[in-house]
Amino acid sequence: KKELLQTLKGKENITLDGKKIMLYANIGNMKDLATVLQNDAGGIGLFRSEFIYLEKDQFPTEEEQFQIYRTVAETMAGKRVIIRTLDIGADKQCDYFEMAKEENPAMGCRAIRICLTRPEIFKTQLRALLRASAFGKIAIMYPMITSVAEVRRIKEIVNEVEEELSSQGIAYGRPEQGIMIETPAAVMISDMLAEEVDFFSIGTNDLTQYALAIDRQNPSLDEFYDAHHPAVLRMIEMVVENAHKAGIWAGICGELGADLELTQKFLAMGVDELSVSPGRILPIRKIVLETDVEAYKAGNTGV
Ligand code: PEP
Ligand code: MG
Repeated sequence: KKELLQTLKGKENITLDGKKIMLYANIGNMKDLATVLQNDAGGIGLFRSEFIYLEKDQFPTEEEQFQIYRTVAETMAGKRVIIRTLDIGADKQCDYFEMAKEENPAMGCRAIRICLTRPEIFKTQLRALLRASAFGKIAIMYPMITSVAEVRRIKEIVNEVEEELSSQGIAYGRPEQGIMIETPAAVMISDMLAEEVDFFSIGTNDLTQYALAIDRQNPSLDEFYDAHHPAVLRMIEMVVENAHKAGIWAGICGELGADLELTQKFLAMGVDELSVSPGRILPIRKIVLETDVEAYKAGNTGV
């Protein structure tokens, strides 16, 4: 069966009725890069940059980060590499950040909230990302967004960083900028958010946690954690619709995107991209190649 999947390498991700989808890979460290290429990923849909911070006992420098982002961009040779900015807090703790202890870390100061309250940390990462963008097709993605104001503030900070780099005569590129949709608030205002960014990527791990009010870290709640809950599936459908109305694309980078039982449903919803662990790319491609989306829709009455 493995050998059969190997024959799918180099093929387009296109359904029997001609609908295309992008199949990208999630990576959590540099060692994953080899398997990304082996499995014929069309790009990297989620580069979890926090590993760069978690591996160290002090803040990584701009230069250290630049080297890593540049290496990824060059290795992917023109394919899109979506790098998510720092997403620590909650389940991912880093001592040298000296964060206050919180009663409710999943709802606390995490991800973009740290970046917006401590812009010096954010700016160092943005400088590295903008500089590395001159060496490949980097896109930046911001996690845990809940409002339009946050996105506007982020874009202002990016503009400031660009001006600083220009005035210092340092080369940089102009990456696409997207956001993760992983809070119910972001889902409900996805029509407004779509006007502000180049793409959406749905983080179903956190979105399920916040939509169902179930701590994703608590195994004793497994019986209540329904990964196929219609609330989450309807949210995905709504986000894709709002993205398309505004002319941008929407993908899924949470675990649900790799669920083979849902691949056809996602195709029917018009999901544009799935970012999954590298080993899932060819199995999903196989389903895509065997699906007739219009026929599937005709036999299915939605979520
Ligand atoms: C998600 O929340 O679905 C996601 C992809 O991000 P992480 O699992 O890193 O929080
Ligand atoms: Mg998340």
